[in-house]
Amino acid sequence: MQRLSAHTRACALSPLARASCLIPERMAYPNRIVVKVGTNVLTAGADKVHRPTIVALAQQIAAVRSQGVEIVLVSSGAIAVGRERLNFPARRRDIPLKQMLAAVGQSRLMHLYEQIFELYGITVAQTLLTRGDLADRNRYLNARNTLLACLMHNVLPIVNENDVVAVSEIRVGDNDNLSALVTNLVDADLLLILTDIDGLYTADPRRDPSATRIDLVPEITEHIYAIAGGSNIRGTGGMLTKIQAADLATRSGAEVVIARGAERDVIARVVAGEAIGTRFPAQATNVESRKRWILAETVRHSRVVVDEGAARALMTGGKSLLPAGVVAVEGDFARGQTVRIYATDGREIARGITQYAAVDLRRIRGLQSSQIAETLGFDYGPEAVHRDDMVLL
Ligand code: GLU
Repeated sequence: MQRLSAHTRACALSPLARASCLIPERMAYPNRIVVKVGTNVLTAGADKVHRPTIVALAQQIAAVRSQGVEIVLVSSGAIAVGRERLNFPARRRDIPLKQMLAAVGQSRLMHLYEQIFELYGITVAQTLLTRGDLADRNRYLNARNTLLACLMHNVLPIVNENDVVAVSEIRVGDNDNLSALVTNLVDADLLLILTDIDGLYTADPRRDPSATRIDLVPEITEHIYAIAGGSNIRGTGGMLTKIQAADLATRSGAEVVIARGAERDVIARVVAGEAIGTRFPAQATNVESRKRWILAETVRHSRVVVDEGAARALMTGGKSLLPAGVVAVEGDFARGQTVRIYATDGREIARGITQYAAVDLRRIRGLQSSQIAETLGFDYGPEAVHRDDMVLL
């Protein structure tokens, strides 16, 4: 009820939203969400990390998780905590200094999270990433597997950019864009960006009193980028990086909401579908987007031939490909690359991201998955190509 009236209200008020009244109300209740908190939220606008804010965040995350929603938290704040510890007053800009502050602050930030989430019985895991990690398919797969393992074991991953090693070419640069990459990495269906303003405005509300909040952005156009570029909120990422993040995440199949972090129970309310902040509907399903990504870079001369039983299991049983079903491996490919999967009659039946490099797959083909570790000396899991990483042709 509330959802419908909020949407109707949005359509009545905003010309942008009005154009979109044909858009479905919103996605179904999300199963997996990424929550991004910026430094400005954690410091509540002051110079130090505001402990009660972290407590409120933990409380909300615990409540939403108890409803069965999986959460990945992307948190900034390392530099702020490092600055606080070393008593660095000036907002200096040189990169090595910021990296040093992040190195000091990251462990302390995690310590804070650990202590506070512990009160709610939640175990946290530090996950530091760079763009370099996510651009390389092998490392992308490793990061994905780690995050999914955390979720499967009820551990809360807390992601930040690995500032210590991240310099220009491998830097994501801001946690807004990082949170969109993480949304894509774990196939989340909602990205909630929490910041110090309650959404995207038609102009900077601090300079222009006639500025109004946009409730719904059906499509991220040049005009939206232009408005975002004009507003200048504090922090590494202004509104512009949030729009870039929303653009990326909506195209990977997630809904995005930008809202004010200090809003009471904001996480639960957004998850419940209440119209808070600015909402950007998903532009594709995450299955479609993942398929596109899987197919984007197929290794040309790769050929993984599977026996009849495996071909049937893939095509009609919705199963993963196990090494036991592989009869031949041709070509040279690395773990994380997309390979072509063929039936013995020469038909290409699927493509998927391989968990094992060609050299390793040759050694384990035909074997039971329980024999992988003893044969290779390591084990990336029982599947050669996981179901979720596969597109049937
Ligand atoms: N990684 C930085 C930090 O933790 C923040 C980057 C950002 O907020 O965009 O302090």
